Parts: sequence; C-alpha cells; structure tokens
Amino acid sequence: MKYIKRLGKFICSFDIFALTLKHKVLFNYYPQIKFDYIMSYVLSLSNITKFFGQVQALKDVSFNVPEGSVFGILGPNGSGKTTLLSIILDVLKANNGNFLWFGQPGSPAQRRKIGSLLETPNFYHYLSGVDNLKVTQSISGRGTDEDITQILQKVKLYERRKSRFKTYSLGMKQRLAIAGSLLGDPKVLVLDEPTNGLDPEGIAEIRELIIELKNSGHTIVIASHLLDEVEKVCTHVAILKMGTLITTGEVNEVMQDEDMVELSAADLNGLAIILQHFSTHVTINNVSSMVQFPLPKGTAKLDEINSFCFSKGIVLNHLLFKKKRLETRFFELTNN
Ligand code: ADP
Ligand code: MG
Repeated sequence: MKYIKRLGKFICSFDIFALTLKHKVLFNYYPQIKFDYIMSYVLSLSNITKFFGQVQALKDVSFNVPEGSVFGILGPNGSGKTTLLSIILDVLKANNGNFLWFGQPGSPAQRRKIGSLLETPNFYHYLSGVDNLKVTQSISGRGTDEDITQILQKVKLYERRKSRFKTYSLGMKQRLAIAGSLLGDPKVLVLDEPTNGLDPEGIAEIRELIIELKNSGHTIVIASHLLDEVEKVCTHVAILKMGTLITTGEVNEVMQDEDMVELSAADLNGLAIILQHFSTHVTINNVSSMVQFPLPKGTAKLDEINSFCFSKGIVLNHLLFKKKRLETRFFELTNN
C-alpha cells in the first residue's frame, strides 16, 4: 500500500513537471498566450462575506491579486473597500469566505511581508520625521535604523528628515505614513485611499511614489473611490458596488470592453430607428442632437454603418467612433 501511495505521488509530481515544461516551451514560442496559472497570486479572496448587524458590507467577494501588480479596489463611499482591506489585514473577521496570502492561510511570518496603511497614523507633531519613524520602528519591531535612512530616501523625505512633523505639508505627512508602512521591507503594500484630503501636488507625489514602489518590485493593493487614480496608477482593478464585486480584470480590459458609435442626421428619430439593425441599445440625446450605440470592442465598421444609413435614405452629418472610457463604465456599473 505504502509503495502504491509513493508511486502515485511520483507519477503525480512527474505529471506536474511535464505540464509545467510543456507550457514553458509553449510560452517561449507564443508569449502572447496567457497561462493563468503561471502567474502567481499574492492574494486570493474567495467568497468573502461580512455583516455589520443587518448591514451586509460584503457579499461573496472573490478575486486574485497578481504578483507585481498595482491592484485598485474601486468603489463609491460605503461600497465596502475599507471593510475588505480590514479583513485581509486581520483587523476584522469575515462572516464567511476565506483568503490566502502567497497561497497560504494567514500567519505571523506572512504578515511581516505585508505593509499597510489603513488609517493615517498619529505621528508626534514636535518630533522630526526621522524620530517619528524610529518610534514607529520600535513599536512595530519592523525594520532597523539603517532601513529608516533608505526608506526616507525612497519617499523623498531624506532632505527634510530633521524637520518637525508639524512643518510638513499634507503630502509629506502622507509620504511619511507610507514610509512607516515600508519598515521591514514588505513585499506587499495595502493602502486605503492614500491620496484622500491631499492637494493636487500631494496627490501627484503619492502617485509617483506608488509607481516607483511598483517598479522596485512591490505589489500594491490600493482602495480608492477615485477613478482617475485607478486609471493612472493601477494595472488591475476590482470594482465594488454596495459590497458586491461588479467586475475585475486588467485596467485596460475593463476600460475598453465596449466601443461607442456616435452619429447625427437631420431626422434623429428616423436614424435611431434604423440603427436598431446594429444594436438594441440605441440612445438619443436631444440636447446634443446625437444618437449613440455601443458595439463590442474592435467590431465597429464605420464605412458599413455609413452606407447602411445611406441605403435607408438617411444622410449622416456626423459619424464618430469613441472608445468607452472607464469613467463611463464605472458610472454605469455603479449606478444602475
Ligand atoms: P468604503 O470604505 O468603501 O467607503 P466601508 O467598508 O467603510 O466602505 O463600509 C461599507 C459598509 O459597511 C457601509 O454601509 C458602512 O456603513 C458599513 N460599516 C462599515 N464599518 C462598520 C461598522 N464598524 N459598524 C457598522 N457598519 C459598518
Ligand atoms: Mg473607506
């Protein structure tokens, strides 16, 4: 029996080896083919559900965060973003579902690989930036004095390290908070609305920092209600609406899964009627005197549409192809 089990294990591991080899070869020849399982996930959520009394803050939320991504959790206020981050950081317990960090259930060793910023920490106003980080370092036990110098350089506060915290701009205060989460050199950073309350300059600084952190090999999970932020810094997105996952994927894909065709003619209603030939979602905008309809990405053929309208006796005075922006998608997804 023991030998049969061992043989089974051997065959099984050989199968996995052969499969990996086969796809490695395939991958080298056809790098455009995506093999989902070759990509490793830093975080996997499955069916996370959370109630606060009668209020259901999260409903069966499942998605994967690929290694090296900047993963945006996007949703309007109250959609469950902070609740979700609190669960994956073990601050709150889910009522149902589970999550894996690096393919494993949570453990103290794994938690050390994760830096987080859920709430802006209470730094001491009369202490300098560097002294505040030393306090954070000694309380958390993460990182060393030498790390502090390096981290201050990373967040571009090294020159101002000796200035008192109270003299910092809002952007600098937030960068110091991110510096605190970088103690101990975590592989993953979890940031809740890191640009909230900042002026445009502060926002730009934080965005630049996030991109630099990604480029230096960190995976970053970032909650935001700002679409613009997700579009600018994230590679992947999960959109939440009232605790439900609406969609998830690469930002480019989620952003462009439909194209819009915009047209106009003297007889707007007549135009809308004949366009039913192409789509059941034709809308008339009487203010702009335009008709528009969506088509699956990459399928719009303007010359065909033009000659079809002409053959039906309608002469177009406007024909435009528009890529549907994530903004429109986000608005539609979270408002109907
Ligand atoms: P977001 O971060 O997207 O703004 P939250 O996760 O803070 O959303 O909140 C999601 C929902 O859960 C909201 O309806 C909110 O009122 C509710 N909620 C969050 N925290 C608590 C709490 N501690 N007690 C009761 N309800 C809560
Ligand atoms: Mg929140």
